[in-house]
Amino acid sequence: MKRDGAMQSLWQVGMDVYNAKNISLPTGVVDVVIVGGGITGVTTALLLQKSGLQCVVAEAHNLCFGTTGGTTAHLNTFFDTSYNEVIKDFGELDAQLMAASARQALNLFKHNVAEYNIDCGYEEKDGYLYAQDKEQWDELEEIYKASKKAGVEVMYADTIPIPVQFTKAIVYKAQAQIHPSKYVYGLAREFEKAGGVIMQNCTVTKVEEKGILVVETSAGDIKTKNVIYATHIPPGVNLLHFRNAPYRSYAMAVTLEDDNYPDALAYDMYDPYHYYRTQTIDGKKYLIVGGEDHKTGHEENTDHCFTRVEAHIRTHYNIDKIVNQWSSQYFEPSDGLAYIGHLPGNPENVYVATGYSGNGITYSHIAAITLRDLIVKGDSDFKEIYEPSRIKMVAGFANFVKENADVVKEFFAKRLAMEKITALADLAPGEARLVKYDGKSVALYKDEDGKFHAVNPVCPHAKCLVGWNNAEKSWDCPCHGSRFSVNGELLTGPARSDLERIDIG
Ligand SMILES: Cc1cc2nc3c(=O)[nH]c(=O)nc-3n(C[C@H](O)[C@H](O)[C@H](O)COP(=O)(O)OP(=O)(O)OC[C@H]3O[C@@H](n4cnc5c(N)ncnc54)[C@H](O)[C@@H]3O)c2cc1C
Repeated sequence: MKRDGAMQSLWQVGMDVYNAKNISLPTGVVDVVIVGGGITGVTTALLLQKSGLQCVVAEAHNLCFGTTGGTTAHLNTFFDTSYNEVIKDFGELDAQLMAASARQALNLFKHNVAEYNIDCGYEEKDGYLYAQDKEQWDELEEIYKASKKAGVEVMYADTIPIPVQFTKAIVYKAQAQIHPSKYVYGLAREFEKAGGVIMQNCTVTKVEEKGILVVETSAGDIKTKNVIYATHIPPGVNLLHFRNAPYRSYAMAVTLEDDNYPDALAYDMYDPYHYYRTQTIDGKKYLIVGGEDHKTGHEENTDHCFTRVEAHIRTHYNIDKIVNQWSSQYFEPSDGLAYIGHLPGNPENVYVATGYSGNGITYSHIAAITLRDLIVKGDSDFKEIYEPSRIKMVAGFANFVKENADVVKEFFAKRLAMEKITALADLAPGEARLVKYDGKSVALYKDEDGKFHAVNPVCPHAKCLVGWNNAEKSWDCPCHGSRFSVNGELLTGPARSDLERIDIG
């Protein structure tokens, strides 16, 4: 199973690329084309197919290629946007709706695992949030009170599952965890059994309204009544790109010298926070710790983020072996809530699910329920709270938009002279840098064999300048999160095309 980064996540180990059974392009009109084969796309497709609609999942690479393959898969009834923030900005009723949507999402996970007998390490666990100083304690009190008002099952805790000093802790009951790629593969099988079609290596390039929707893909056109962009962020240029900021987070899976694995989910309260859990795979336990989040393209040396996660783990645990380390991307919504529903600026029957923060595994199921209801019943309990066209001017919104508009205007030569490049870029194998060539920026990477790869660093999406991500060996756009390989091939949208390649001669 491939992923949109060079490092291997725990969820790729032992997982072949999904072997789809129904792979012929449908010739008639289908009910729904779901763009994207991550957890959102596959879960939504299954719910719709089981509701009697004919669905196709079109995935540009392979199932779980995106952030689903690089997640840590905690399933929670609370979010990065805490309930006290939601009550302040949206009111108590919306906080209750949000909590209800999270509980329905967790119930759906439980139902799917049991109903389809999916062997994906699903376990129900409690989730601990703990304060380590006075300021965090005060904040925790607010979070606790607001969570109660939202109707979430939460209580104070005397102990926590992590060996650290804490001043106060709360515990959210009946959270859960899964092995995400095994879970998605299990759902995909059920979807196919129910008659659904999964097209991998099938990039959707355009959707046009021609009485019916015509979805142009790299494998041919598909006619459909509805389209859902389950692409984590919709491709192309859309209002929502100015309402979402791309962030990266870092995770490590380690084995311990002792058996000190936490038997629960846990979170500290630093900004960015650390998150912990244990996953058992084939009888072997792994401690998974994540954190060190930053805005995409805003960390000069992404390897250092792993060094800091490792140092953090070592202060609390005796690491036997670092088994996997990986990073991935998520999208922070401007007002704190996800955007699920009709995609603004598109025909009524085009939908989207994005702006998940670090809670997209939970949100994927909220999206599946909401989108299923919108398409099948024409309405959903959660339609208004996650409405994508809402404009909520919360504190920091103006800065948010400004920060996301870091645009450059440059043009360049399509061929660079080798002598100049060598002189300009004193790069070690495996290193990359933006260099100036005749006054213009060039993104240059030297591979392990000493060969240079040069691309135009101007992102084709909104003309921002990409930055190097040395951990995942990709060029990442800080504005809207498009990501490209060393040769400029598109890994992650919203860009629809590659970075321009520059020959070196
Ligand atoms: C390190 C990290 C840890 C996280 N941990 C948690 C957690 O513990 N709990 C939690 O709830 N959330 C967590 N999240 C967030 C969560 O993992 C993601 O929000 C979620 O996986 C997104 O799933 P998705 O299916 O919407 O998108 P993705 O998994 O990104 O899938 C989108 C798919 O769309 C495909 N695609 C894109 N464009 C096209 C196109 N034009 N045509 C066809 N296909 C296309 C891509 O190839 C990709 O496979 C974490 C995120 C990170 C970065």
